[in-house]
Amino acid sequence: VPPSEKYEYQAEVSRLMDLIVNSLYSNKEVFLRELISNASDALDKLRYLSVTEPGLLKDAVDLDIRIQTDKDNGIITLTDTGIGMTRQELVECLGTIAQSGTAKFFKALKDSKEAGADSNLIGQFGVGFYSAFLVADKVVVLTKSPKSEKHYVWEGEANANSYTLREETNRDKIIPRGTCVTLYLKHDEKGFAHPERIEKLIKNYSQFVSFPIYAWQEKGFTKEVEVDEEPTEAKKEGEEESNSERKKKTKKVVEKYWDWELINETQPIWLRNPKDVTTEEYNEFYKKTFNEYLDPLASSHFTTEGEVEFRSILFVPPLKKEDMLNTKTKNIRLYVKRVFISDDFDGELFPRYLSFVKGVVDSNDLPLNVSREILQESRIVRIMKKRLVRKAFDMILGISLSENREDYEKFWDNFGKLLKLGCIEDHPNHKRIAPLLRFFSSQSEDELISLDEYVENMKSEQKDIYFIAADSLTSAKNTPFLEKLIQKDYEVLFLVDPMDELAIQNLKSYKEKNFVDISKEDLDLGDKDEEKEKQIKQEYGETCDWIKRRLGDKIASVQISNRLSSSPCVLVSGKFGWSANMERLMKAQTL
Ligand code: ADP
Ligand code: MG
Repeated sequence: VPPSEKYEYQAEVSRLMDLIVNSLYSNKEVFLRELISNASDALDKLRYLSVTEPGLLKDAVDLDIRIQTDKDNGIITLTDTGIGMTRQELVECLGTIAQSGTAKFFKALKDSKEAGADSNLIGQFGVGFYSAFLVADKVVVLTKSPKSEKHYVWEGEANANSYTLREETNRDKIIPRGTCVTLYLKHDEKGFAHPERIEKLIKNYSQFVSFPIYAWQEKGFTKEVEVDEEPTEAKKEGEEESNSERKKKTKKVVEKYWDWELINETQPIWLRNPKDVTTEEYNEFYKKTFNEYLDPLASSHFTTEGEVEFRSILFVPPLKKEDMLNTKTKNIRLYVKRVFISDDFDGELFPRYLSFVKGVVDSNDLPLNVSREILQESRIVRIMKKRLVRKAFDMILGISLSENREDYEKFWDNFGKLLKLGCIEDHPNHKRIAPLLRFFSSQSEDELISLDEYVENMKSEQKDIYFIAADSLTSAKNTPFLEKLIQKDYEVLFLVDPMDELAIQNLKSYKEKNFVDISKEDLDLGDKDEEKEKQIKQEYGETCDWIKRRLGDKIASVQISNRLSSSPCVLVSGKFGWSANMERLMKAQTL
């Protein structure tokens, strides 16, 4: 056996290692994601280089990742058939943190202008390898590069200042090509070496890595074996039974064995062409990814290009959750180059009022170890958010335009309140939200109408969109304010939900038509007859003064108006004051 050589890490490495292990990753289980992403990187590199150098694949092994666990001894072994490392690369890559091999590879690619490099190289920014020390005391890396005839072993321990390097000559231990990383788990972390735990982690973090990931698992199949049946008591006592008549009985036994099990799906659904994906597949994906049992109401699958590139599939869930204003929903799963990064967002990708939208987002433009802080400050994320929000609106509009009116009724029932909240919180998107709103109206009986339907139904001389806020449909229908408008056959929106009026006040107008509260003082229906008004004022002026004297401070003023047709008088709100409904709301503090 060739002797091991001892190497010092480059000056800062051991200290950095500690820093990384203890502060960069708050979540220990990410070690597996990092190692898988390195393996996937190595496979990507090999695949990329083999395009021009097919000889690299001559060892005829499949491009895959295999993970084996030894739970008794707390050992995890992760093997890939990727590009491997030469001796020098081992020293450079695993002994140096700042000079990430992948980053170098990328630079080399760029420099040589090998152009069109569409390779999916993950982990440009990572210091990922060292995350193995989150859970392991000792890490051993056996590797074979196609550029070298020899196999090398790198061995490092947690909190050490040095690592060792040696050649491996033991024929039993070598692999045809690629890298095998063995983790000797810390005493407290041995639980990671369970096949079920590993499977769960792969499913959660690396489900959609594009190379197959196999795990070594115990399996069983049932088979039937023949057994001789003992005569039963009843038979013993009862009629005679000859030996030859005794039936052969079969029994089911479970045969156990170990084998490789494919854990991930190698082609993420979002990388496929939307034309080739069926609604059933989207529904399946939705239910599997978000642990749901009902199909989504709608989905939207898209790719954005330009400033920021990402792919995404968004879904509208069929039902609302209890606590709708809780923004930490885990509804959006972010991947960077197909590696799961996080679902722990709080408004970074969707505003509060759209946080019911679920989906996956896969970007090539973010670093793998992107943290919450980075996300919050990232310009890329801001652009992504803007695009995602627009796509979400398109998707919701799609439901509203569907032939099946019930779908949108369902949507509105569940999420309508949130869109109204959007009117208050997201002014820049008013033009996208407004067409999605629904209201009761004086002409629609019990059906909700859209603002477009209202505008369509407007009289030719009608300039404004009229509304009245009330606490119920009945009181809206019976309000005296309606009289004149009904006479003119103008439609009036009935704002009966506490949020309705706030939404409308924030919108101010729709398609250049102002929203006008018919309970306000200065309602102008465009039919003023000045002569007649003057005459009536003279006639009833004294009556008005008398009423004002009697009521004193309880009212602001008494005025003659042409807005009533059958009621003698009506109490209205001042032009600049709250509407009666708002006043009621404020008093009740429902908001
Ligand atoms: P990064 O992946 O961001 O480059 P890592 O710390 O995860 O940083 O890995 C450091 C380097 O070690 C990689 O860039 C790569 O060159 C090398 N490396 C790690 N794992 C493997 C592997 N399984 N096969 C080949 N090279 C690897
Ligand atoms: Mg990495």
